[in-house]
Amino acid sequence: MFKILKQISDYAKESFQAAKYIGEGLSVTFDHMGRRPITVQYPYEKLVPSERFRGRIHYEFDKCISCEVCVRVCPINLPVVNWEFDKKSKKKKLNHYSIDFGVCIFCGNCVEYCPTNCLSMTEEYELATYDRHELNYDNVALGRLPYKVTQDPMVTPLRELGYLPKGVMDPHDLPAGTQRAGKHPEDIVEEMKSKASEEEKVNQ
Ligand code: SF4
Ligand code: SF4
Repeated sequence: MFKILKQISDYAKESFQAAKYIGEGLSVTFDHMGRRPITVQYPYEKLVPSERFRGRIHYEFDKCISCEVCVRVCPINLPVVNWEFDKKSKKKKLNHYSIDFGVCIFCGNCVEYCPTNCLSMTEEYELATYDRHELNYDNVALGRLPYKVTQDPMVTPLRELGYLPKGVMDPHDLPAGTQRAGKHPEDIVEEMKSKASEEEKVNQ
């Protein structure tokens, strides 16, 4: 008799524990049901790249003077500058320019040192192709205006975590005009300028 009672009591305890665990699990599920996903629902949502993002290089053929500085500063001598000497004008005549993004490491050296600023880094990062040879961009492909996440009507642009207001972890439904945590690059430049002018005044 005593054994049966103990068995019933153990069974009741185990049932109670099982119900408790199920309740705990469901409480987590219900808690998450009310939240928006923090993950970016790519490709319907895309993160806005940061100000100094180094994406696909943009090239302006008309500004290029075929100096080949970009080739010399490139760690792998990647850009191909195809030019010939024009005897009439006694100037270099540019025929063709290309960069193979299958090899490029996006270091930005070529952009940094180009004397005519005909190279610039864009925020374009979707470069995947089925054939790696398609990554070898000629001057026409390089001259194409870059894709911008903020200008695509089919995409919801979201701010990166580092660009959210202090304490905010979810980039969805941010009220308009919310300021990010930390300073903007232009604010830092202004601060540096005012500091430099103050130091000048002190030294005078
Ligand atoms: S970004 Fe760097 S690796 Fe790519 S072409 Fe320019 S210098 Fe070369
Ligand atoms: S450094 Fe600039 S101007 Fe000179 S060849 Fe390269 S892209 Fe052209």
